[in-house]
This record gives sequence, structure tokens and C-alpha cells, in this order.
Amino acid sequence: MKMSKLFVQTLREFPNDAEAISHKLLVRAGYIKKLANGIYTYMPLAQRVLAKISNIIREEMNASGAQELTMPFVQPAEVWQKSGRWQKYGKELLRCKDRHDNEMCLAPTHEEVITSVVGEVVNSYKQLPLNLYQIQTKFRDEIRPRFGLLRGREFIMKDAYSFHTTQEDLEREYEVMGKTYTSIFNRCGLETTAVQSDSGAIGGAVSHEYMVLVDTMVGENDVFYCKNCSYSANSNHAISKLPIETTDGGFDKEEIVDTPNTKTIEELAAFLKVNANCILKAVAYIADSRPVIAMIRGDKEVEETKLMNVLNALEIRPMENNEVKEFLNSEAGFISYRNVDKSKVRVVFDNTVKGMKNFVLGADIKDKHIVGANLEEGIEFYDISLVKEGEFCPECGKPLYITRGIEVGNIFQLGTKYSEPMGACYTDEKGQLKPYIMGCYGIGVSRTMAAAIEKYHDDFGIVWPIEIAPYHVDIVPVNIDDETQSKVAYEIYEKLTKEGIEAVIDDRSDRAGVKFKDADLIGFPIRITVGKTIQEGLVEYKTRKDGVMTKLTPDEAIENVIKYVKKSS
Ligand code: ATP
Ligand code: MG
Repeated sequence: MKMSKLFVQTLREFPNDAEAISHKLLVRAGYIKKLANGIYTYMPLAQRVLAKISNIIREEMNASGAQELTMPFVQPAEVWQKSGRWQKYGKELLRCKDRHDNEMCLAPTHEEVITSVVGEVVNSYKQLPLNLYQIQTKFRDEIRPRFGLLRGREFIMKDAYSFHTTQEDLEREYEVMGKTYTSIFNRCGLETTAVQSDSGAIGGAVSHEYMVLVDTMVGENDVFYCKNCSYSANSNHAISKLPIETTDGGFDKEEIVDTPNTKTIEELAAFLKVNANCILKAVAYIADSRPVIAMIRGDKEVEETKLMNVLNALEIRPMENNEVKEFLNSEAGFISYRNVDKSKVRVVFDNTVKGMKNFVLGADIKDKHIVGANLEEGIEFYDISLVKEGEFCPECGKPLYITRGIEVGNIFQLGTKYSEPMGACYTDEKGQLKPYIMGCYGIGVSRTMAAAIEKYHDDFGIVWPIEIAPYHVDIVPVNIDDETQSKVAYEIYEKLTKEGIEAVIDDRSDRAGVKFKDADLIGFPIRITVGKTIQEGLVEYKTRKDGVMTKLTPDEAIENVIKYVKKSS
């Protein structure tokens, strides 16, 4: 490819609407063009990267025994009504009507369609197991599209769905997919960690997320991990071993006391001269339009996903102050659980509350708390608390650390969540109708491209792992009008191309500095510069990753490139 012909426009400045470095670099280096919020054109350079990631995914998925298909992107409401998600899926599902007034939607995911397709084709246990996948555009009307391709509205996903007759067989495939994912990301040159996670609205019991660990805000997930063993989990799922603690407020009788100007746990603790872990904190929510109070030890925070799972709720938000009056007949900051009508308000106690004695509790009256309170008999406890860094690994007991992660893929054990409501069944050996046991497995293809940049870049631009770089090598004649330079550069270009190396020759008449800047920005893994030293028969060979430059003969340079590329494939 001649640089003069390549459809790319690099920019001098970063776009001013970008926060994430991958977003900034993708725009500035000419990989993507924004059309609307969260909607981008993938320019030829990006298209090449996406094709490489997709090919790696295809090869590994095919090798695992999965088969590729392509399902419709525009889907009728009926199939979503069958699963019950037409109502449940929030505003991320972009709905529209066709000319006949039929309700339709743009596919955010394909559980419904695949379940209905397999339901029509597979009748017997003899046709199972089965794993089907596609690589395709999805649309989700994300509430906050941001960070460029990391959270777009339109994005590319690989989604796979597997079908089984037994839970054991699902678990076997789940493990196969786990290994396949590790190979896929390794082959993309991208380091990932598989972390335990919550399966959220998609349902099912067991799931893992493949995270690229980063230290910036673009890692939208908090990941707890142990340095001693292999435990790692998304904060929405993480558990910790807490020292078995009895916390005693030390009050010798229960009474109501004045606690003026104590809106926060810290203020209240200071005022009453107790530790925060002797205060029973009430956090009020509205979950699926019903009032809920979460009771948790004062030094801990509620993990809302865990709470939603206990409640089996799809949506949750903090209760507004006026709702605290209306639903709880209480005062924000002074909420108890004791005076609410338990048939209308659900009260959920965290495990940490179990060991509390003679504690402090809101009195449902402004500026008043109960001290010396104790729990009633028969309370059920749940894990609804957020793990904190420094708490102990549930597997080996050593301290847990926290970092952030970009989720590039995930694997789920779905069970019969879709097959059952959709009536998608097979007949087993005994001739009985059974719903398929399912798994699903996603990879964000466009997000993976962006995540690779988050991980691999420097002040000058992108530093692609060679496995997914748009081209392997950029050949730069310093002065294209110099006959020798130009001739040698073209010779190298042609020899490399013949060898199957993906090369660009920068045939533009720009200054060398401009060409070098673009080469670094775009992120070619190797640059070969043909300049004045060609008089001595030497060219300059530079690797982007470490910036190391060596003077070599053109043939040596060609050999090095071939070695480098072959090693990576
Ligand atoms: P997230 O928690 O990041 O919203 P998700 O749980 O909604 O992800 P899935 O529905 O399981 O993700 O989709 C599979 C994969 O698709 C994810 O692992 C992620 O890599 C990618 N993905 C999901 N949403 C987006 C998005 N808005 N933009 C780009 N990639 C996405
Ligand atoms: Mg999502």
C-alpha cells in the first residue's frame, strides 16, 4: 500500500470531545470517524485491525468445534415477547416500527433469535451439543456512550450460544470456551485476566469476565484480586473473608438520644464516640418501583448488584428524601427498619450485621438515634456488601487488592433461562420433552481494538501488538525524489510484499519528520528508513515497541521483518 493512496487522515491535535486515550488516538491517527454519539465509521486502518481480531476469533472458535452463522440485525418484537424481554429490556433496546406498523428492534444481543432457530431445527438429544456463533454489529442505546469504541452505541460483537442436554455438558463447554478465550486474547497480543462476575440481567448462575487490567477510569469495572492465589472477581461479585467480628457499641441499655447535625456515619460516630462498625446503617432504595431498605454495618457499603440479586430486581435507584417520608414514614439520615410495614417494604440485612451488639440505629425521627439496640430473633442475612481493599481473600485468606478492568469478553452459564419461556425443547432418550441447557459467550471485537490501545501506547501514538497491527511495516524513503533512496525503498517494499508481509511505503513528498510522526502515531510495529546511509549500503531498522534502531543492509532488514512477523503468527 502506498501511503499517498491510503485512505487516512491523521490530525495534528487530539479531538476535544475525547477522554480515553484510545478514543483520542483512534481519532487522531485516522482509524475512526464519528457520525453521531457512540456511532463511528471504521476507516480502512481500523477495518484491518478488526478483520485481524475477527480472524483470530474465527480460527479459535472453529477449532473449538463451534460453527459460524449470521442472524438478523433487525428483529420483530414477537421473539422478544416470547422470552419476556420486550418488557424487561430497558431503553438500551432501540425499538422502531416498520411500514406495516409492526414493532421491531435493533439487535443488542441474540439469545432470542438463536433459541428460536435452534428450537426449530433441533428435536432430538442426538443433535446436541451445539455451539453457534456470529461476528456482527450490535446496537445498544447506552445511557452514557463514552470512551469512543470502548462503550459505543453501535459496536461489533462476537456472540456464541451453546446448547446441551445436561449441566455437566454445559460445564464442559464452558471450560472449552474459557480456554478458547485465553488463546484468542493471547493471539491478539493482549493480556487478559478471567475474573468471576455477576451474571446480571442476562441471568444464569456462573460467569466469568475477561478483563484487560488498566489503572485508569476507562476500566469501568473494579476488580479485586489476590496476589497469593488466583482469586479475582468483579466488585459486583467479590466476596471477602472478614475476621469474625463482634462489634459492641458498649451501651448498657436501649434508649433514644439526641444526635443533632449528624447526617453522615462519620459525624454520628464522632458525636456518640463509637466506631462506625457499631452503627447499623440503613440505605433506602426503590427497586422495580418497590421500597427497600438495606441494613448494613456503618463501615461497609452496599453493593447494588448483589442487592438486586437478592431482590431479583432489574432496576434500582436510591430513594429520594420525600419518598423516605412517604414510604417509610421516616427521615433521611435517621432511618430505622423497625417501624415499617414489612408487607410493603422489603428489609434486607447484610451478613456483617450478624455480629453487631448494643449498636446505634436511626430512630425514624429527625436528629434522633437509638443507642444500645439489638437484633430481633429470626433475621435472615445476605451478602450485599461491597468488598474493600485490604479485606481478605475468600480462598486463601491473604489481603485483596483492587484494580480497574475493561471487560473485553465474558462467558455465561445460562441454563434454561431462555429455552424454558420460549418453549425451545428437545426429546431425550426416554422420549420426554426437555428445554435446552444453554451457555453464551461474548467478545467485544471493537472494544478489544480500543482496549489494546489503552494498554499499548506511548506519548507518540499507538504501539500495536504486531498480531493485530493494521500493517506490519512502514518503509520510509527520507527523500522520495532521491533516485537511489526511492529505488531501494521500492525494492524492499516489493520483496516484503512477495513474502506476504503487509507493508506500507511512504511515497509522499513530505518532510521525513512528518512521515516519522505519522508512523509512530499510526503504530506500525516496524519502520525501515531509507536515507543518506544508503550510500554505504545501509538502511535504518526500527521497532516501535522499544524504539531500538539498527543499521542493516536492505536484505538483513527484510530478513528481520520476516522473522519478526513469522514469530508472531
Ligand atoms: P458491559 O458491562 O461493559 O456493558 P455487557 O455485560 O453489557 O458489558 P454483554 O452483553 O455480555 O456485555 O456483551 C458481550 C461483550 O460485548 C462485552 O464483554 C463487551 O466486550 C462488549 N460490549 C458490550 N457493550 C458494549 C458497548 N456498548 N460498546 C462496545 N462493546 C460492548
Ligand atoms: Mg452493558
